[in-house]
Amino acid sequence: MTLHERHGRYPQANTVEDFRRNLAAVQQRIADACLRVGRDPASVRLLPVSKTFDEAHLRLAYAAGCRLLGENKVQEAQRKWEAMSDLSDLQWSVIGHLQTNKAKQVARFASEFQALDSLRVAEALDRRLQVEGRQLDVFVQVNTSGEVSKYGLAPEAVADFLQALPAFPALRVRGLMTLALFSADVARVRPCFVLLRELREQLRQQAPAGISLDELSMGMSGDFEIAIEEGATVVRVGQAIFGARAMPDAYYWPTADARPADGK
Ligand SMILES: *Cc1c(COP(=O)(O)O)cnc(C)c1O
Repeated sequence: MTLHERHGRYPQANTVEDFRRNLAAVQQRIADACLRVGRDPASVRLLPVSKTFDEAHLRLAYAAGCRLLGENKVQEAQRKWEAMSDLSDLQWSVIGHLQTNKAKQVARFASEFQALDSLRVAEALDRRLQVEGRQLDVFVQVNTSGEVSKYGLAPEAVADFLQALPAFPALRVRGLMTLALFSADVARVRPCFVLLRELREQLRQQAPAGISLDELSMGMSGDFEIAIEEGATVVRVGQAIFGARAMPDAYYWPTADARPADGK
């Protein structure tokens, strides 16, 4: 079975038991990948990605133990945050591109933002966070595949970008994030993860004070084992936990043409 053939095959999780089983299976895959490369499974955080699934299913995931959920779109995340505010220990990670006019919402409800790729967004977030009296964990998104359809900074632009971030004290920079090439071919996917790790090693030395590059968020349902072999500390997994999505992935990773005008 190739990498992404698995995707259509994940059955829908419809009970707490289904979620427990799927979470255990993913944790086992994480542990196996760690074992292969001599890593401690505790060094990899699983971020369950709940986009497109309804509140009822998110509540089942919560009952199965999920306390942090990843969402790609701000409006969808905010809607779910409001509907589920009775679960006071449930936190939200925004993992998709952000337009500056949505920074206010993210500053209000998110505990983590993984797709920082412009100073305009950094500035807007920082300003709104100061108003809210909050801080936010952020990851800088890097385009490691060279595809124009992917958001994220070009690898060679990241060093200068990091130098500018101490100006935004409400942002706690934790590391780098990437989406690999969407391909069934491991030989083309792995280099994206290698690039992110090497970039981190290179930039760590010169990172400004207060900017931490400990974390590497990379890998999803179809490719997270490869990402772990290459050093991922956060894997963002949706379909292997919730089941296959009806929505095409193009809805979340727009083509260059569909990119909003606010895009970089
Ligand atoms: C949807 C999404 C994921 C998870 O993808 P799955 O195939 O559901 O595991 C990971 N990262 C980002 C940015 C996403 O939008």
